[in-house]
Amino acid sequence: MNLFTSLAQTLCFNRIGISEPSRVDGSNLRNTTLKKTLKATCVALGVAIGAVLGLNISAAHAGTVNGVTCNPYRYLYPSDGTAYPNDFATASQTDVSGHLYVCSSTLTHTNAQTILTRVQTIPSGALALLKSRSVYYFYFANRMDNNNYLKGAAPFSGFSQFQTNTARCGKTGYGYSTITKSSVIASSIFDKCSFSVGTTPPNPNIGGVTLHESGHAFDFSIASISPNMAVSPSTSYAFSDVVGNVSGSTQTAASDFYYLDSGKKNHPLPSACQVFDSAAQSALELDLGGPNDLGETVCNGNTENPDFTGMENTSIAYKESFYFLGGGSSNSELFAQLFAKGVGTIGSPDPTPFVDSVIQNGSLPCSRLTVNQYISTQTPPTTAQLQAAYCFIPTAADWDR
Ligand SMILES: [Zn+2]
Repeated sequence: MNLFTSLAQTLCFNRIGISEPSRVDGSNLRNTTLKKTLKATCVALGVAIGAVLGLNISAAHAGTVNGVTCNPYRYLYPSDGTAYPNDFATASQTDVSGHLYVCSSTLTHTNAQTILTRVQTIPSGALALLKSRSVYYFYFANRMDNNNYLKGAAPFSGFSQFQTNTARCGKTGYGYSTITKSSVIASSIFDKCSFSVGTTPPNPNIGGVTLHESGHAFDFSIASISPNMAVSPSTSYAFSDVVGNVSGSTQTAASDFYYLDSGKKNHPLPSACQVFDSAAQSALELDLGGPNDLGETVCNGNTENPDFTGMENTSIAYKESFYFLGGGSSNSELFAQLFAKGVGTIGSPDPTPFVDSVIQNGSLPCSRLTVNQYISTQTPPTTAQLQAAYCFIPTAADWDR
């Protein structure tokens, strides 16, 4: 099978797991012109550096690479069925026909099985897309093992997208060639996270992280079958508009950020406590937050913390959860988490309770509608659906550019 014999490398399109720091002043990301300029540069770079690498997918997923040993899940646990991603033809150690690999002898069957069963809870249409795009899952002991293995294992070795120095608890990479229209997508889940402060706590919730990474993989899978492979739903102009296009919004066609600060037809301006309530941020969210993070609950019951008095809801979102709610380039993280929440229960402890609470509170209705529609049909919401919810309506072309 030589689907990947000539994949090109595109360095700019690098979306990663609960991981990628986007430490830009939130106010800049309201500038749509700036964002569109950055994206155009990125796509052009991808084409310009489209070097053909001569990769061969049959080389290896299982085996020892750079000191890290990956085994097929079915080889380790032959009684757990053969459904994707455990779709190996045999239970042999050398069978690389399946899509789930366990990459350390220290990892437990229970946790590996959680990855398998959580992927299998994804609704059938979305799951079928992941399978058809050959999305791989790796369970690594930690980030270092992810990097060591994937930098030496084809077809991932040719892509910087599978390497990371910032991913905390998981990472998803997407490599593609606009010339051959081929792609490779893999999600890694780390048993121990790597926080920016230098600590390596246990993954707080293997299942929740699996669903989040699957959200990235799903996003990339849509991109990989789109005319413009460089644009996934989460990076499209359209999703950016649905999330946060302030200038184009009205009371009857509102982006979610417009709604958060101005209300919209039949949906009055929500209070800060309605949007953020008393949800505290997890250690992971604080680590993702960086210097902007205040580390406080916005409300205590229905009483707003005085530190937030007078701030617009989107300003609180920028400060408290820029990684997920910063708009602009951060929309991929929001998309992935909306996917995780849309698929099902995150479980306990919730790795990202603050942003999950905002989603759960119904404060991002149009973004949520969009991602749920993608999960159901693998296509964007219809104009009628957006109109009925008083959401901003992008042009059809903007979903793929
Ligand atoms: Zn992520």
